[in-house]
Amino acid sequence: MFASSPRPNNLSQKMLLVIFSIYLGVTCLITCTQFLTEYLKTQDSISSELKQLEETVRGPISSSLWQYNQAQLDVLIEGLIKMPIIVGVDVFDKDGESIISKRAYSPSAVPLSTFDSKTELSWGVNGDRIFLGSLVLYSSSEIVLDRVLFGFSLIIMTAFIKLTILFWLFIWAFNRYLATPLKGLMSQVNDVQISQDISKRIALPDIENNEIRQLQEHMNNMLSAIEADQVQLLEDEQAKRAWLEDAVAKRTAALQVSNEKLKELATRDSLTKVLNRGSFFETAQHLLTLSQRQKSPASFVLMDLDLFKSINDTYGHFIGDQVLVHFTNTIQTLVRKSDLIGRVGGEEFAIYLPDTDEKDALNIAEKIRAEVARSILDVEGKQVNYTVSIGVETSYLEEQSIGDLFKRADLKLYGAKDKGRNCVEN
Ligand code: GH3
Ligand code: MG
Ligand code: MG
Repeated sequence: MFASSPRPNNLSQKMLLVIFSIYLGVTCLITCTQFLTEYLKTQDSISSELKQLEETVRGPISSSLWQYNQAQLDVLIEGLIKMPIIVGVDVFDKDGESIISKRAYSPSAVPLSTFDSKTELSWGVNGDRIFLGSLVLYSSSEIVLDRVLFGFSLIIMTAFIKLTILFWLFIWAFNRYLATPLKGLMSQVNDVQISQDISKRIALPDIENNEIRQLQEHMNNMLSAIEADQVQLLEDEQAKRAWLEDAVAKRTAALQVSNEKLKELATRDSLTKVLNRGSFFETAQHLLTLSQRQKSPASFVLMDLDLFKSINDTYGHFIGDQVLVHFTNTIQTLVRKSDLIGRVGGEEFAIYLPDTDEKDALNIAEKIRAEVARSILDVEGKQVNYTVSIGVETSYLEEQSIGDLFKRADLKLYGAKDKGRNCVEN
């Protein structure tokens, strides 16, 4: 039964060991007590038998002593010593001197212990009892043991049978009610642990409503709680990730805006929002190289507001600034989107016109000049009228750089100033 059933776990083994150690100890104690009781009872019974024998032989032995009949005495003692319960006989005279001492054993096989029964020997004369001596009969522990052996064997056998039956019953009960359910429980808990799948639940088959079922329920409740926690954690994690992604996206957008602003600040003039000098020349040089590769004409228009110092002096710097803004707004309405406008000095502006020959460039410059001269600026109730002088230069030669174009356009501009301002020179 034990070999075919699953191996008991350590707890069961320990419990079995403890229970059987206690049971074996108690059984041994009871058996020893039973044996001792049986031994003492048997010894009492043998003592009674010795007494009865003494009663029986006292008369004949006393008679033999009174008559000094030694032969009869020897026969009587010989008869006594052959009795199965007697191992020795002593006859003492009235002074306590040994008359006869017989032993049923040889001096080399002395019994472990002996016990005796003593009686007085006397003879009646004219109604008086005359004390003749005493008779002592001996029996031994071996004789008592011989008697109790059968009963004791029965006790031992009964104890052994009880112990064996109980042992197997305990093994069966432990396996059935403790070891097997516990092993099943451990195996299923192990499954959950190895698979790391906490959606699994522990379900022991044929389980009774006891502590193991409660343990199973507690474990399942625990698994449910862990599962709920995990779902919650996952949701929290997803929410955090979404929040983080959102924050990163917002931050990236903010950075892009900042970058745009920085780029704007680095490349554009803060007042008029057209390209600053550095950025204008850099971009214009790229466009000029492109135009030269494509063998296409490009024109450079350089503009300087006339007598701007006196505008500042007359109306103040704030209005001077508004004039500069008005000027850039005006030229932006007159050029193409592909044309490049830059502020190259305080009140000095340039336009790079790709794919534009001298005639078209002059046309645009003239439009700008006329529009500026015609417009009247109204700032803070003040009417401001201003003009612009323009120098135009067109590039056809490959070796020209934007710097060369600028220098030549500048000379033209000086020419326009010399001619009395508010005019275009090419
Ligand atoms: P010209 O016709 O010969 O060009 O005479 P001008 O007065 O325009 O020439 P000038 O170079 O003597 O004066 C340019 C003035 O432009 C001087 C300066 O104070 C002014 N200026 C330069 N930048 C700005 C600016 O951003 N805002 C304002 N309000 N004035 C500026
Ligand atoms: Mg000027
Ligand atoms: Mg100037």
